[in-house]
Amino acid sequence: MEIGLYIHVPFCVQKCLYCDFTSYDNMTDLFWSYTDALLQEIAKEGAALAKDGVQVSTVYFGGGTPTALPIECLERLLLQVKKSFSLLPEAEVTMEVNPGTADAEKLTLLHSYGVNRLSFGVQSFDDDVLEACGRIHRSKEAIAALDAAKAAGFSNVSLDLMYGLPRQTFESLKESLAQAVELDVTHVSVYGLKVEENTPFFYLEKQGKLELPDEDVEAQMYQFVNEFLPNKGFRRYEISNYAKRGYESRHNLRYWRYQSYLGLGVAAHSFLEGRRLANTQDVHEYIEIVSRGGSPRVEYEESDVWTAMAEFVFLALRTADGLETAEFTRRFSVVFDDIYGQVTAELIEKDLVRHAGGRICLTERGMQFGNQVFEEFLPE
Ligand code: SF4
Repeated sequence: MEIGLYIHVPFCVQKCLYCDFTSYDNMTDLFWSYTDALLQEIAKEGAALAKDGVQVSTVYFGGGTPTALPIECLERLLLQVKKSFSLLPEAEVTMEVNPGTADAEKLTLLHSYGVNRLSFGVQSFDDDVLEACGRIHRSKEAIAALDAAKAAGFSNVSLDLMYGLPRQTFESLKESLAQAVELDVTHVSVYGLKVEENTPFFYLEKQGKLELPDEDVEAQMYQFVNEFLPNKGFRRYEISNYAKRGYESRHNLRYWRYQSYLGLGVAAHSFLEGRRLANTQDVHEYIEIVSRGGSPRVEYEESDVWTAMAEFVFLALRTADGLETAEFTRRFSVVFDDIYGQVTAELIEKDLVRHAGGRICLTERGMQFGNQVFEEFLPE
């Protein structure tokens, strides 16, 4: 069996004003104890899976900001992964990077320790927008970090951008996209801002103090992204993800293809043999439990078959390749149309999905209103 490995590093230099991920600022005192706990969890889980002959084809360090950790911690983590897991020689090893936490030396060392893909959280190249979002870096630093990545030998570099942000105009988004293309990255993710509960943006919005681009401008931005990037050679292979051919994120494709992955670290989720597992969300508890040899898993869920089928469908539909109906039948031993024929026909009628040679895919409109489509497949 092959799996992907996700490793969560929950530290950031400063919380961005829109962020609801499990990440903490001002916790530098936990860097080493968290790394030690993570090393223990990697060793323990790796030993268990190696016994069963499980191989790892992708590794993803996410957060938080993995590069907020000192390079010595990252080196130990990368070495431990190699030691404890059976890593395939061609494995994709990604690390998320905040441009404010990575210099040429750090990136060069990461490359030498086996990281072969970087994912930069840039969000915008407009300093006004970056400031309004509480980002720690400015455009100049992002450009320098991307140049340093290239100089360090990385040929597979991704960049995250956002639209619908405060102080962001249509022109500003256009310039950010043009800058991304000029930097010659191989992958771009573009997300629309969603104001999440309990974030500073949520409270500002409640007080009427969050000024965002209006709906028409946001729609114009969405449209522009989807025309501009494909025109520059980036295929839209998932609702929010664009890649040059051959540079799709293999790790993220595992999620959308309903393939197994193991999540390690605080708040990390796993999907193994059809079961969803989750680690504790509390970083202190995580360190305490793992340090005394316990398991940090707090949730365990065996999906009922209706939920599993729905998940399989809407994860696959997120991708441009869509859902292969024969694969659905292989997995669940039922014919796709017997279960979802009626729903699919209605969605085709509304121009939200289409048939494409044994596959069901979202249409242009379906990509825009994906959540509306996915809801239709959920069990009542
Ligand atoms: S750097 Fe990323 S994880 Fe950290 S607060 Fe900002 S958006 Fe959240």
